[in-house]
Amino acid sequence: MSTTLSDLTTHFRQAFGGEPDFIARAPGRVNLLGEHVDYNDGWVLPIAIDRAARLAVRATGGETVALSAVDIDARVEFRLADLEAKVAGDGAALPGWARYAAGVAWALRERGLAVAGLQAALTSDVPRGAGLSSSAAVEVAYATAWQRAGGWSLAPMELARLCQRAENAYVGVNCGIMDQFASACGQAGYALLLDCRTLEWGPLPLPAGVAVVVADTMVRRELGSSEYNVRRAHCEEAVRLLAGPLPGIRALRDVSVADFRRHAHRLPELVARRAQHVVEECDRTQRAVGLLRAGDAAAFGQLMNDCHASLRDLYAVSCPELDVMTAEAQALPGCYGARLTGAGFGGCTVNLIQAEAAEDFRRELAARYERAVGRKPEIYVCQAAAGAGVLPDAAGR
Ligand code: ADP
Ligand code: MG
Repeated sequence: MSTTLSDLTTHFRQAFGGEPDFIARAPGRVNLLGEHVDYNDGWVLPIAIDRAARLAVRATGGETVALSAVDIDARVEFRLADLEAKVAGDGAALPGWARYAAGVAWALRERGLAVAGLQAALTSDVPRGAGLSSSAAVEVAYATAWQRAGGWSLAPMELARLCQRAENAYVGVNCGIMDQFASACGQAGYALLLDCRTLEWGPLPLPAGVAVVVADTMVRRELGSSEYNVRRAHCEEAVRLLAGPLPGIRALRDVSVADFRRHAHRLPELVARRAQHVVEECDRTQRAVGLLRAGDAAAFGQLMNDCHASLRDLYAVSCPELDVMTAEAQALPGCYGARLTGAGFGGCTVNLIQAEAAEDFRRELAARYERAVGRKPEIYVCQAAAGAGVLPDAAGR
């Protein structure tokens, strides 16, 4: 459960005595389009959502970082000198939840940025492990806090890259850049188009009067990581085989739909199906740009529906529960588009919904999914929100 800002400040007082200097906030994210294309140098289209990690902070200087995690009722202290050893002040191994903070401090220091001791109380209403990237929200909140406390300033994308480095090299999770990017660079009312090759990005307006609804199937399958590696290998094989007739391609993002159709017969059937998804998904994200600029929610939603069919039939990363959640959503009033989001094999769908229909949609989708699958889903109605920042004063006004 999350706490309000005044609860967070109260908690800070109880944990550390006195008032926090400021509150850092960093949101979770959901990807609207561009799935399984990041490792093919393609384009992704996430939004930052109006759920965020918030950190009440007092800069104390020195070498000691004292953290209190309100939602999980845990506290820890560690010394910045002990970052490499990953131990807490009492010599025990640093707990998992604190490694995001330590990892961010480590990555910032590695980059030569000033990082000093602080006291911080953390709360977040980004659900953990639900596909909305609660971990990136926490990382970017810490980075934002140390930026404010240290008096230095990096471009949001730079901050995101250091947080990604923290998660890859310190926490040990091999994530891409999208999550931290969206958390750092989000803009209220905008989706963010990110070129995963060049890291160039820009905001694209979301159509007026839409909500983004995330529906968690509550199903998690272990299959995910081994299948993920197989998909990556198939994509690499497709590039190798297509580079004969198409010299100069480096990744599937370099292959046009027309060229793919011309040369797909050179690929083993399974490889061709996987590559077709990636090539067409890249094409969909490119077409989405014009549709978003034109404010065409219906046509953009159709691309989301097409994406789901492709992930299910060509890329084979869906599962019965995701298919039920998507099909039920697509049949409900006010739904422009629905698809699985994230790696697949369980997790969440993302839905583009008429804002005024969103509450009815949420209720009806929950009932229908539970009837069909026998599990209660979690459904979150979201808006595209601003990226990380420091709230003007400790009370968050
Ligand atoms: P997600 O898909 O939500 O990013 P991860 O497994 O990558 O899932 O990250 C979840 C982890 O991030 C949690 O296990 C915890 O260590 C940390 N975390 C996220 N939110 C909080 C929070 N509110 N308080 C403490 N730790 C958190
Ligand atoms: Mg994560």
